[in-house]
Amino acid sequence: MAFVITQPCIGSKDASCVDVCPVDCIHPTPSERLYSRVEHLYINPSECIDCGACQPACPSNAIYQESAVPRQWRQFIQINASFYR
Ligand code: SF4
Ligand code: SF4
Repeated sequence: MAFVITQPCIGSKDASCVDVCPVDCIHPTPSERLYSRVEHLYINPSECIDCGACQPACPSNAIYQESAVPRQWRQFIQINASFYR
């Protein structure tokens, strides 16, 4: 199980989540080259330890535990994972 970044991150991308993640599994960070080229950030599902720290830190309510992702944004589970393949 992992947390997932969804649609509301698009247009925000403020990286508050990056600052609180204890295992640095949210990318690209603002210091990474890809940051300016992506629409939103992605959580690496194989590194996320499911701590939940990023969720309250997100001003856009874009982050959900995988099992709680709203139906209209379920495709983001795959979109987050695919970024790391
Ligand atoms: S749930 Fe925890 S480990 Fe997973 S992305 Fe959020 S802050 Fe990082
Ligand atoms: S805190 Fe929320 S809006 Fe900001 S980058 Fe992370 S997921 Fe996107």
